[in-house]
Amino acid sequence: MKSAEIRRQFLEFFASKGHQIVDSSSLVPGDDPTLLFTNAGMNQFKDVFLGFDKRPYTRATTSQKCVRAGGKHNDLENVGYTARHHTFFEMLGNFSFGDYFKRDAIKYAWELLTEVYKLPTEKLWVTVYAEDDEAYDIWTKEVGVPAERVIRIGDNKGARYASDNFWMMGDTGPCGPCTEIFYDHGEQIWGGPPGSPDEDGDRYIEIWNNVFMQFNRDEAGVMHPLPKPSVDTGMGLERISAVLQHVHANYEIDLFQSLIKAAARETRSSDMDSPSLKVLADHIRACSFLIADGVIPGNAGRGYVLRRIIRRAIRHGYKLGARAAFFHKMVPDLVAEMGEAYPELVKEQAKVTAILKEEEDSFFRTIQNGMEILDATLAVMDSNGRKELDGEVAFKLHDTYGFPLDLTADICRERNYTVDAAGFDAAMARQREQARAAGKFKMAAALEYSGSATTFHGYDRLNVDGARVTAVYVD
Ligand code: ATP
Ligand code: MG
Ligand code: MG
Ligand code: MG
Repeated sequence: MKSAEIRRQFLEFFASKGHQIVDSSSLVPGDDPTLLFTNAGMNQFKDVFLGFDKRPYTRATTSQKCVRAGGKHNDLENVGYTARHHTFFEMLGNFSFGDYFKRDAIKYAWELLTEVYKLPTEKLWVTVYAEDDEAYDIWTKEVGVPAERVIRIGDNKGARYASDNFWMMGDTGPCGPCTEIFYDHGEQIWGGPPGSPDEDGDRYIEIWNNVFMQFNRDEAGVMHPLPKPSVDTGMGLERISAVLQHVHANYEIDLFQSLIKAAARETRSSDMDSPSLKVLADHIRACSFLIADGVIPGNAGRGYVLRRIIRRAIRHGYKLGARAAFFHKMVPDLVAEMGEAYPELVKEQAKVTAILKEEEDSFFRTIQNGMEILDATLAVMDSNGRKELDGEVAFKLHDTYGFPLDLTADICRERNYTVDAAGFDAAMARQREQARAAGKFKMAAALEYSGSATTFHGYDRLNVDGARVTAVYVD
């Protein structure tokens, strides 16, 4: 079944259960300074959950464009490394605004998966919030999932496990306990069930999260009950498509095939299994959709996140041998693949292409020199047995050659080196101080960096359109 058909069947199923089909909202959240980009289907309904906004319907269903490349849910560092993460993806969702709650949400999800999509029930695993006996009983007693495949998971603050059954949009806002459905891709793939020590593997892949929205978390972390218990769900279209198309990785689904071919064509790459081709296929979607929604590459906030994704893409193209602008030439392939579902891509095609080309031309002017310096530095480090790139070098790459810190960190990670992010921060602070002293410092262009000596956590603290984003969190 093609992704377009999977999307259609999802929306029609929920329409048949009385849900209003609502269009995806923009990737740029309207009037919400707590959010960098739209990261979930519920974003456009945030105020409805909070009781500040009313709609003429109490049930809705959407296929929502999402980008997770910063803020609370940041998957940029995962792209190219896992089978299941993208920067841009489509989230299928159904929502109840004070209408149905746990029982119906669980039953609808199960009916769609097993009767419409016809998934074999024995491959489905379920997690519930540790204390949520109600959800546990619905799964085991009413739906009839064997207890061995229903796993209780807490919020795991500080625990070693990645699973988390308490969903939050950001550090503030609507949140609540959730129940998640996983698909077992088979024993040929390494990994253990959720909650087990091997859960980070790719065998059991989370496909659908059903959140029971019950609280509004304030800045002090206090949970205030919502006016009415509600439901918010999200299922990655690419992940359910992989399951239904009998492939393991999202990158093997229909939607990605032509993009991977386009990446190979434009970089003249013959190794179709190269992770760089997957990264390019991912990044062309994120970059094009962001530009179509009005984000422009720049030095701060959303524009800087976009610039970093574009530069990452160019770096992967460079790695495959590209030495001049190539990335924008993938736009027609993307429009052919997704333009029907998202007409804004067609409308903005010329603009997207022109902006990408300009960014590429500018980075291609410096990338070669920067790469040579980095290669030479790593070679010297090798001979000294050092594994951590000097923060001063990372800063020079940033300042003179336009290498965002996460780009340098990504190259180092590929080759088993780390970056001294604290040293980078110090070099940055010193330069700012000098610039300030010289009276040249422009406050508007200021960026904040977060990091520690060993781990760079991405630019989670950003100035978004002048408003300070306080959510400093790495997924
Ligand atoms: P994961 O644990 O795999 O990172 P998540 O728990 O962060 O996923 P949720 O916030 O629960 O994801 O989002 C709901 C659904 O959206 C997920 O169950 C998954 O199907 C999909 N999804 C989340 N992040 C991504 C991503 N980066 N790329 C593709 N699909 C995603
Ligand atoms: Mg998860
Ligand atoms: Mg989840
Ligand atoms: Mg995640």
